[in-house]
Amino acid sequence: MTGTLVIRSARMALPDGVREAAAYVRDNRIEFIASYRAKLDADTEVDLGDLALLPGLVDTHVHVNEPGRTEWEGFGSATRAALAGGVTTICDMPLNSVPVTTSVPALREKAAAAAGQCAVDVAFWGGAVPGNAQDMGPLLNAGVLGFKCFLIDSGIPEFPPVSRDELRTAMRVLAESGAPMIVHAEDPGEVRAPAGPGYDAFVASRPPVAERRAIETVISAAAGTGARAHIVRAAGVALSAETCPHYLFFAAEEVPAGHTEFKCCPPVRYAANREALWRALEAGVIDCVVSDHSPCPPSLKDLDTGDFRTAWGGISSLQIGLPAVWTVARKRGHTLADIARWMSAFPASLAGLPAKGRIAAGCEADLVAFDPEAAFAVRGSDLLHRHPVTPYDGRTLTGRVARVWLGGVEVSADGPPRGRLLRRGGEILG
Ligand SMILES: [Zn+2]
Repeated sequence: MTGTLVIRSARMALPDGVREAAAYVRDNRIEFIASYRAKLDADTEVDLGDLALLPGLVDTHVHVNEPGRTEWEGFGSATRAALAGGVTTICDMPLNSVPVTTSVPALREKAAAAAGQCAVDVAFWGGAVPGNAQDMGPLLNAGVLGFKCFLIDSGIPEFPPVSRDELRTAMRVLAESGAPMIVHAEDPGEVRAPAGPGYDAFVASRPPVAERRAIETVISAAAGTGARAHIVRAAGVALSAETCPHYLFFAAEEVPAGHTEFKCCPPVRYAANREALWRALEAGVIDCVVSDHSPCPPSLKDLDTGDFRTAWGGISSLQIGLPAVWTVARKRGHTLADIARWMSAFPASLAGLPAKGRIAAGCEADLVAFDPEAAFAVRGSDLLHRHPVTPYDGRTLTGRVARVWLGGVEVSADGPPRGRLLRRGGEILG
């Protein structure tokens, strides 16, 4: 019980657009939306004036890496960074922790590691790997949101890729539940070893056709089983799909020689592809933008040699995804209602968390006061990620998170952790 709270904003990102409004919160949930000047009686009254109010972001693609690779990130550091970046729910990927989340005991181990140290709400994806189809039903019952699999080497030997047949088997298990299968869509048959250490050779080694082939495989498995599939970055197909801030913000032409902090898979492609991704997002072919925050210790990024063949593939951006996307989106004429749809509402529905991601009656009061005009220069060492390496270092971004409420309680990254562990549906993970 937290009593009642009114938050007024001249720019509230509601599902039907941005307008002035007041949100009335009782006991962690939004009870109703009223007009900005409505006379309301509440224990706490906050008038944000011109500051915008967004639904807290739901980031369905975060590699926390704890337990087992906690030196890469961790639930404490990741969730504090999330909070500072306006992300009030993160969904942890089943790799690169040890163990990987491919069985119920592994899920229990992960939940035990996360418990008590999360600054925002956390839920978990399970992993589909060769030979664990019989673990998938029990994992769903135990509370995972759905599953993630790779069709290509994941970079982590204990999380091997599935074959076409194994993908079908796994999706058959999932079909009845309605939970999605998230597929990392690159086909190993179309990827080759880079011809040299530089960025262009790396991009050429993982061509767009590798994504197209993998998507064809996923479409055929989805059609054959009736399961819901979701792919990591794509265009032109009738599945749900995501892209990431770095694909929308950077282009291969801008990657300085030897700057391996830009390495991720699939790679950041050339400017024409970035434009195509924006158009796909604008047309609704791509549904959402999530971080794929995948950090590692700086030593594994091979920044000293700048060799893209050996550097760890993963970009660190959890705390700055919102301003990175907003910086470009506002120039393209988008509103904060678009941001709320791409970065809060759709990811919440993908994760099966119906009370998250919207400023609407009945939803949890996860809210972010956001200054859409404030510009700032990113300094990796100022971010709350465990490690400072990020390709955004030195970039000027627009949009600053000013205040955050989690379940109607104002929270800060240096305050006590109030995040809960959630299961598909949004109940507490027991
Ligand atoms: Zn990932």
